[in-house]
Amino acid sequence: MRPLSRAAILAVGSELLTPFRTDTNSLHITAQLNRLGVDVMFKSVVGDDRDELLHAVRAALDRVDLLVCCGGLGPTDDDVTRDVVAKALGRDVREDLGMTERIRARYVARGFAMPMPEINRRQAMVPTGARVIENRYGSAPGLWLEEGDRVVLLLPGPPGELGPMLAAVVDSLLMERVSGTAIVRRSIKMTGRIESRTEEQLRPLYTEWSSAAVPVSATILAALGQIELHLSARGPAAAASEAALSAAVRQVVAVLGGDVFSTEGHELERVLGDLLVARALRIAVAESCTGGLIASRLTDVPGSSRYLERGVVAYSNEAKTELLGVNADIIAEHGAVSEPVALAMANGIRSRARVDVGVGVTGIAGPDGGTPEKPVGTVVVAAATADWSRSRVFHFAGDRAQVKFQASQAALDMVRRMLS
Ligand code: AMP
Ligand code: MG
Repeated sequence: MRPLSRAAILAVGSELLTPFRTDTNSLHITAQLNRLGVDVMFKSVVGDDRDELLHAVRAALDRVDLLVCCGGLGPTDDDVTRDVVAKALGRDVREDLGMTERIRARYVARGFAMPMPEINRRQAMVPTGARVIENRYGSAPGLWLEEGDRVVLLLPGPPGELGPMLAAVVDSLLMERVSGTAIVRRSIKMTGRIESRTEEQLRPLYTEWSSAAVPVSATILAALGQIELHLSARGPAAAASEAALSAAVRQVVAVLGGDVFSTEGHELERVLGDLLVARALRIAVAESCTGGLIASRLTDVPGSSRYLERGVVAYSNEAKTELLGVNADIIAEHGAVSEPVALAMANGIRSRARVDVGVGVTGIAGPDGGTPEKPVGTVVVAAATADWSRSRVFHFAGDRAQVKFQASQAALDMVRRMLS
């Protein structure tokens, strides 16, 4: 049989077409398929609607050899995936009585006071020729259908049920049907660069990788306060892909140097946390315009109590003086948004918290409060240790939230570079 190589994903559920729910299952499914060397050619989100779903299933089966549907396998009337896929493949659906008994037994085992509602029998309906995949975390079983060289896989919607079931299918049924190639991916994150210049510097590598024995492809993405480079390698097996990818990552780091903060896709706050742990240093932050965002990001990382001593939001001039010991004369002379004040905040929190590293941030997040000399987006970041200190003025673009995020990013990055 021809190995499966081209897949499509249909996420089924009307809630996924509202502004309130996002389809995350397809991301997980894509990651698993990629590891097996199967490319996802396209995916769609379809509501609980027989006609729309039938159309989408037929269109997908024209284009790909593996169709993965998730959701719509429940017992209620709006769960139509099983029926519609059977119809698209021209199969009858029959109740699997053994399955009904297993669902019934599961109901009893879970200690519900009443017997299994009869509508749950719908979950025991199996299209002719389908293989039933056990669901250890819920009542809706999965289904595996083959039609010539093509496969349709139906998985339940709840991510906690889909994950284990897909892992089991990957290790068994799917593994036997793929070519043995493997796609692996890594994301490299960097600060202090612009996208176009980065792309220009990396272009010779792209050319080299595209004709390598194990080709590596790259996509560059500009995000707020950072750039991400996503690399993927396709080799004859996972180990070969991993090796090609690691070599490519080393080449990128050699070109971009210290601007790269993670080659594992980690967030900046985590990278900084690892550096602080490795150097056995503790940090405290004094924040004005970021309003606690830096402390919040640092505490997003498990284990941050090992290095974060405190964070102080010193928004008013009085707070800067009272809580951080910033001399009121410095504020009067230079203004609250100035390098001397940011440095005094960093030094003040460092000595009051008795830590190794102090950080001070002050700025104008907007939309009001700018002046010709200090327009909205002006942010001053300072960092200080016992024998080193640094401050820098930034001019960020964007709305209030974007300025705050970029300010927090600049502060974390200043300390990262200091410790790297
Ligand atoms: P269903 O199998 O359609 O009854 O889905 C049950 C629940 O699983 C939904 O209410 C969602 O909370 C969740 N779910 C379904 N599809 C997805 C998806 N594509 N991504 C994330 N969650 C989903
Ligand atoms: Mg649903």
